[in-house]
This record gives sequence, C-alpha cells and structure tokens, in this order.
Amino acid sequence: MSLRLRLTILYSALTGGILLIFGILLYSLVNILLVTQVDTTLNQTANDLLLGWRVGPAGELSQETLPKLNLTSFVYYQIWDKNGRLVSSSPGLGQINQPFDPVGYQLKRAIYRNSLVQKVHLRVLNVPLDAGGRPIGTLQVAASMSMVDTTRQALVQTIIIISLSAILFAATLSWFFIGQALSPLVHITESALRISGADDLSQRIPQRGAQNDEMGRLVTAFNDTLGRLEQLFTSQQRFLADVSHELRTPLTVIKGNADLMRRMKQVDEESLDSIEDEADRMTRLVGDLLLETQAESGKLPLHFAPVEMDTLLLEVFKEMRILARERVQIKLPEIDQILINGDRDRLKQVLINLIANAIKYTPQGGEVFLSLGKVGDNARLIVRDTGLGIPAEDLPHIFERFYRAEKSRTRSKIGGFGLGLSIAYWIINHHGGRIEVDSAEGKGTTFCIYLPLLKTSGNSSKE
Ligand code: ADP
Repeated sequence: MSLRLRLTILYSALTGGILLIFGILLYSLVNILLVTQVDTTLNQTANDLLLGWRVGPAGELSQETLPKLNLTSFVYYQIWDKNGRLVSSSPGLGQINQPFDPVGYQLKRAIYRNSLVQKVHLRVLNVPLDAGGRPIGTLQVAASMSMVDTTRQALVQTIIIISLSAILFAATLSWFFIGQALSPLVHITESALRISGADDLSQRIPQRGAQNDEMGRLVTAFNDTLGRLEQLFTSQQRFLADVSHELRTPLTVIKGNADLMRRMKQVDEESLDSIEDEADRMTRLVGDLLLETQAESGKLPLHFAPVEMDTLLLEVFKEMRILARERVQIKLPEIDQILINGDRDRLKQVLINLIANAIKYTPQGGEVFLSLGKVGDNARLIVRDTGLGIPAEDLPHIFERFYRAEKSRTRSKIGGFGLGLSIAYWIINHHGGRIEVDSAEGKGTTFCIYLPLLKTSGNSSKE
C-alpha cells in the first residue's frame, strides 16, 4: 500500500473518529434536553391535575373542579383508584382502559418510564396517590414521544450524512494535498533511478519549491552526496588511470632492457641499473598505495611514544642533504628542543615526504629551509623552498589522494603518485595536529606543521 494511500486512510479515519465522538455527544445532549422537556411537561400536568381532586372519607376519589389543563393532543392522563378501576382519563389515547405503563403502575412510586401502548411510544409519569399514608390510586400522565423520536431520527440521519460527507471530503483533500506534498519525493526517486540507471553521477536533482523545507533539504543533502560520490569516483578513476600509466612506463622499460640483453646475449650493467630503478619506483608506488589504503580504512597503526622532534629533524636533515647533493641547498637555521607524543616512524615519513617534495620541485641552485620552534602549546615545523611553487588552483587539492598539480608531472621524472601529502595529512591529523601550505608560483612553497607539545615536567627547551 502506498504511503499516500496509507496517510489518506489515516486522516479519513481520524476525521471519522472525531465526528463519531462529536455525533455521539451531540445526540446524547439533544436527547437529554428533549426528554427533560417532556418530563417537565408531564410533571407540570400531574401537579395541575391533582389540584382538582378530592379524597372522600372512604378513600374514594372525586373530581371537585375541572382542571385548567393545557392538554395538547400529545399529553394524556389516567386516574386509577385503589381497586384498579379507571376513574378518569383524558380524551384520545386516554380512553383506552389499560394503564399507559402497566409496569410503572405496579411499582407504586413516582417514576418516569417509556412505554409502548397500542404501538404508540409514550413517556409516562406514574404518580401513586395516597391519603394519610393509605394508597388510594394511581395517576398516570403520558406524552407521545413521536415528535421526539422523529427529531432523534432526523438528528441521527443528519449526523450520519454530515459525517460521511466530511470523511469523503477529508479523504479527497488528503489524497490531493498528500499527493502534492509527496510529489517531490516521487520526483527525487525518479531522478535517483535515472542517475543510477545512466551511471551518471554528474546529474543533480533540480530544486523545486522552497529550499529550506524538508524536501528542499533532502534534495540538497542528496545532491551533496552525489557531489561527494562524483568526486570520489572521479578521483578513483584518475587514480586507476594514473596507476596504469605509472606502471606501464617502468614495465615497458624493464621489458625493453630485458629484450635488449636477450638479443645481445650478455648482461648489460646500464640495462640492469635501469631495471633496478624502475623496480624501485614500482615498489614505492605499491608501498604508498598500501599505506594509503590502510590509512583510509583506519588500519594504519600508530605507535605513540615521546618523540624528540629536534633529534628526528636532524636525522632527516642529514639524510636529505645526501639526497639533494649539490643540486639544492638544505639549511636548518632554527631548531628548538621539542618533545611530542607521536609515532616516530610515521613522523619521519612525513618529514621525508615534505623535504623530498621541496627538493623535487626546486630547480638546481635553489634552497630549502627547515625550522623547528614552539608556538603556544604547539611545536611548529616549517619546510620552505624557493622552488616552482604550486598553482593557486591546485593549492586547495594537494592534500587529496592521488592529486598532482598537472604541470608538475612533467617537471620531474621522479614525480610521485600524489599520495605522499594525503598520507602526511592523515598522519598529522591523527597526531592531533594540522598541516598548512602557502605557495606562490615561481617563488616557492612553505609547509607548516603544528603538533601538540608533550606536557611533561621533563619537557625542557633551549628557550
Ligand atoms: P607527489 O608524490 O606527486 O609529489 P604529493 O602528494 O607528495 O605527491 O604531492 C602532491 C602534489 O603537490 C605534487 O604532485 C606537486 O604538484 C605538489 N607539491 C607538493 N610539494 C610541493 C612543493 N614543495 N613545491 C611544489 N609543488 C609541490
């Protein structure tokens, strides 16, 4: 059953329920009012009747004055003596010679009762008559209930007709308005099916109506999700293309060199070097990929322990100086004694990555400056180069997985796979720190890492 139908049934049932309760209350109220009115008339009539009667010494009843009764054609009376003889009665129905209410007649107490006499519905007031405690007869005053019954019947019919019309009206309106309210949902579903059917994540669901109502927000959220999916999908596609490209080149080189040696029927040192280089490159790629996958799935373990950042930086500085050779000058103008809580190997990996990038993207004769100091409760490590810089349009993306500034690919043969910075970002983030970048094309790039200082009494500094 559709949501629209279910809601329509619910609203119609609610309307019906409310009208039923209202109808019952209305019916009861009108009924009480009508019956009370009849009872009052009967009581009044009985009082008027009794005024004109006298009781004889033997308890016999005799009419002294004719009562000024306002007997309408709907009100009748009977006076019975103690022997069950009809002493007096009103004209019309009153002339029948059986009590209006045979049961109430027996009860010997004043009581209002409903009765059916000769197929006429009556409301009867039974009044036992006594003189000095002796019963001398019974007065019965009756009123025809035909008017009341007709009124009650008309009321029930009216309530039923109004209720049914209201339920029908409510059902029609609900069906219409719920349909209208749910129509964006139908539209969203159709769009979602179309998007998944066409495998086209670039499509978006158009916003119809207000953006800040529930449907508007759903469309926005859905479109945001699509955007994110598209981004991930594109980056995975780019990654696959990149990996295929990166793997094809070394494999071609390896195969070419192997073919060459086979044809020459001798081992060629140069070819072996080349094969080794390419194999190293592939190993690096596979290693980076593994790290990235582990980091992404949260399975990259970090072993935290106090780390002397200054010692670590000096260690990396020495290693990287060898890598940079004479091509680029690496300088360490400022170093502070700093202790943090972290995973030494992973932090070293971050430093190597940043400094290697700085060397990689700085032309011959350029400089790389390293510094380590304190800013508030944080250690601040700076890697600044005087290299090519990063184009402004690439800057917001360089920490994304597989992202490489397009131009830089051609800058260096040893260009990586666009994974180093995203891994670095993940590592620093999981150390409670942050990494920032500032770059001007043609002037150089500065990476800044902030890491929380280890708060121990032994954490001294040269400051
Ligand atoms: P890669 O292995 O390609 O260097 P990274 O994730 O380490 O991947 O870096 C991503 C991109 O950021 C690089 O491709 C390069 O375009 C840019 N980049 C990183 N560091 C620098 C730098 N110091 N100078 C210029 N560009 C840089």
